[in-house]
Amino acid sequence: MSKSKLEGGCACGSIRYQLSMPPMIVHACHCRDCQRITGSAFVINLWIERKFVEKSGDTPQSFRLKGGTGKPHDVFFCGKCGTYVWSRYHGSPGDDLFVRAGTLDKAEAVKPDVHIFTRSKVPWLELPKDARVYKSFYKFEDVWTRESRERMKENAASGK
Ligand SMILES: [Zn+2]
Ligand SMILES: [Zn+2]
Repeated sequence: MSKSKLEGGCACGSIRYQLSMPPMIVHACHCRDCQRITGSAFVINLWIERKFVEKSGDTPQSFRLKGGTGKPHDVFFCGKCGTYVWSRYHGSPGDDLFVRAGTLDKAEAVKPDVHIFTRSKVPWLELPKDARVYKSFYKFEDVWTRESRERMKENAASGK
């Protein structure tokens, strides 16, 4: 059997999605915005090109926040049940979405590649010893695989 695609949706099932490619990278973000939006200690986001997120069902609603870079951060959620399914950061180099891993049918299918903004990590949470950890953000060349950096380049070149 071939490796199945990642799929997921909101709590009420009105929004469903399937990812036609694996994410370029998986972030665990411990910033205050992510803590507030999720109501949790951190968020796990799958950073992936928007064109690889195949949506079905309802169109997500959105609201706009100011991202850490000063550029807008749009947060998308189900209009019926309020589940936050993904974000779009306008500061990102390409046309990407940050899909919330908790909405996957199999949330255990992904694991964070890197932990970011750990300067605001809750003190009771201990990260694995081998985890890649950054107090704020990182340099792409330090963390991303060559393959993912190539994907990002193509994606940025194809315009927003
Ligand atoms: Zn819903
Ligand atoms: Zn964050």
